Amino acid sequence: MRRPLRRLHRSFRVAALFAAAGLAQSPSDLLKSPEIRAAFAAVEHNEPRMIETQVHVCEIPAPPFHEDVRGKELERLFNEAGLKDVRIDKAGNVIGVRPGKAAHPNLVFAAHLDTVFPEGTNVHVTREGTLLKGPGIGDDCRGLAVMLGVIHALNDAHVQTPGTITFVADVGEEGLGDLRGMKQLFYESLKGQIDAFVSVDGTGLGVTNIGVGSNRYKVTFKGPGGHSYGAFGLANPIQAMGRAIAKIDAFEVPTQPKTTFNVGRVGGGTSVNAIPFEGWMEVDMRSADPASLKAVDDKFHAALKEAVDEENARWKNRGAVSVSAELVGMRPAGQTPKDSPIVQTALAVSRALGIQETLHEGSTDANVPMNLHIPAITISGGGIGSGAHSLNESFDTKDSWKGTQRALLLAVSLVQ
Ligand SMILES: [Zn+2]
Repeated sequence: MRRPLRRLHRSFRVAALFAAAGLAQSPSDLLKSPEIRAAFAAVEHNEPRMIETQVHVCEIPAPPFHEDVRGKELERLFNEAGLKDVRIDKAGNVIGVRPGKAAHPNLVFAAHLDTVFPEGTNVHVTREGTLLKGPGIGDDCRGLAVMLGVIHALNDAHVQTPGTITFVADVGEEGLGDLRGMKQLFYESLKGQIDAFVSVDGTGLGVTNIGVGSNRYKVTFKGPGGHSYGAFGLANPIQAMGRAIAKIDAFEVPTQPKTTFNVGRVGGGTSVNAIPFEGWMEVDMRSADPASLKAVDDKFHAALKEAVDEENARWKNRGAVSVSAELVGMRPAGQTPKDSPIVQTALAVSRALGIQETLHEGSTDANVPMNLHIPAITISGGGIGSGAHSLNESFDTKDSWKGTQRALLLAVSLVQ
């Protein structure tokens, strides 16, 4: 007896949220419309062709900072799919517009071009039945294929959306790419023009609404250095670094929101019998909460200064040591609340399609808009993936069209 009541209550709440968000139609309403039914049929019909495209795009190498060749191909595919104003921005993002009746709401729908694999990696894709194997086949060639699948299905079904969808194949999502594509897009190329953001990344049917941010530093300690016996009594950069590491190790950080720190690499010195002139370390700190990330970052800078001051005091400033911290990576943190209209819409889409939904945290393109408080989530692109970021990456195409249908219904729901 309680169950139906609860369900009723929940759907009422969702309807209220759509009203609050100015959404004319809920996903389940849209799902009943003849155009969306036609678009769903087109997704299924086109899927084999989209899988071909997924393989084709994936066999164009896109190592970090060298996404240009794959980007050129996406530019061609965007033009072929009839997108308007197709262009490549300063960072290398490929942008194409599918205009609605109005310019706003403007939803950016993105997938990333880059892979983690270095230049020279064999990117040939093999097939056994429904199983595709190749580096990047899921992350994120699947996202690119879903994006193209959505565009073609909307066109085939002649869907005219009230708002506009801007499609972006972006650069720099992985590792040291440092979200540079998204930074360019939100800080310059489309600054102030984006009302909502969805990226399609990887496989399965998840939704990510928490963006774990990170700050990464290369820290260098320097001093004059000298003979370990003859110059004994000089401050020592590596010993100063040891003091800093001990202080970092003692940091107390919150478990909720999870906040972390790590000294990942160290190096320096020239010989066992020389006071080093240099020592260095690499440090990574993470949190989904911008304030917690800033707090641990502040502690880290204070620890460096204290460590150097103590080392110099210990040796009465003979051969004084100095320290500098270079920011080598910065992925902004943020989150889109569970009760926000975009997350509620994504959950309503999943419910309408009978998909069991759980919310995830991660570090994706959506971090940048989340940090700017622009409604943003990352969804995955359907199918079954394994081995992301490894040479054994695979993608099972079984029922993968469900991912494209989910993405399509979400995109249309967000531009009502
Ligand atoms: Zn990815």
